[in-house]
Amino acid sequence: MIKLLFTFLFFISQSDFKGFPDKETAEYYSSIIGCEGSFSVIDEDETYFFPCQNKSELDKIMQEREVEPKVTEIWDPEPTIVNPGISFRDAPSDAIILFDGDNLNSWIHKNGSPAKWDVKDGYFTVKPGTGDILTKESFGSCQLHVEFRSPTKIEGDGQDRGNSGVYFMESTDLGDTGYEIQVLDSYDNRTYSNGQAGSVYKQHSPLVNASKKPGEWQTYDIIFKAPVFNENGGLESPAYVTVFHNGVLIQNNSQIQGYVKYIGYPEYKAHAAKLPIKLQDHSNLVSFRNIWIRKL
Ligand code: MG
Repeated sequence: MIKLLFTFLFFISQSDFKGFPDKETAEYYSSIIGCEGSFSVIDEDETYFFPCQNKSELDKIMQEREVEPKVTEIWDPEPTIVNPGISFRDAPSDAIILFDGDNLNSWIHKNGSPAKWDVKDGYFTVKPGTGDILTKESFGSCQLHVEFRSPTKIEGDGQDRGNSGVYFMESTDLGDTGYEIQVLDSYDNRTYSNGQAGSVYKQHSPLVNASKKPGEWQTYDIIFKAPVFNENGGLESPAYVTVFHNGVLIQNNSQIQGYVKYIGYPEYKAHAAKLPIKLQDHSNLVSFRNIWIRKL
């Protein structure tokens, strides 16, 4: 009933709404808004119908409706119940677990072979030279939780220290055209701002540097909104990303300019509506644990 009332309110709020073309529809809406009958008006030789006996009755009812609290209440659909974890780190009941500490069964290498990165003590570590790993399942818009740790032993600097990356919508067919949230040891390690930890790589710097010391576990909670392409491959709406780093907001609905490029300006290439998540082998011993995802 409320939904139908909203429908009517929507109709009548449109500046080009002239009325209903038939009496039956007008009388049907009379029953929805709480009056009887219908009245007609003639506009450019066409007859249109409105609910209620006359305009002053309709106006009076609409004025009363506008001040009723229930007019703006939405009951349907009711949000699905999700059981949250004990802390924000724990997967809620509707999450897909991508790594729970045991194995890399949800991941593969680009060539389709089993993921070879080292799993032990509830986490896994990049095995340099084996290549990036991708989720077997594909995702579009999503909420992703991932925990990572930079190597305790500090080696290299700038982009060569604790470098990895979380890529959304990785399209290996199109040539590594994912959207990267940078993983880097950015604790006391200056590099270009749009390449440090939590950057949309080479596009958006993080709002702040919320990095923990190397060797300490860190969290990313990422809300990714997938781009939309039209039938001709043109961009209809870009991707957006929001990132919390160790609970601190560092990307606030940042508009992604295109897939990640080390050299050159970002651009979009049309791709499938769902694609894998990728973790990058950048030859640094970055570890990961507790990875889960919710489809949005
Ligand atoms: Mg990287």
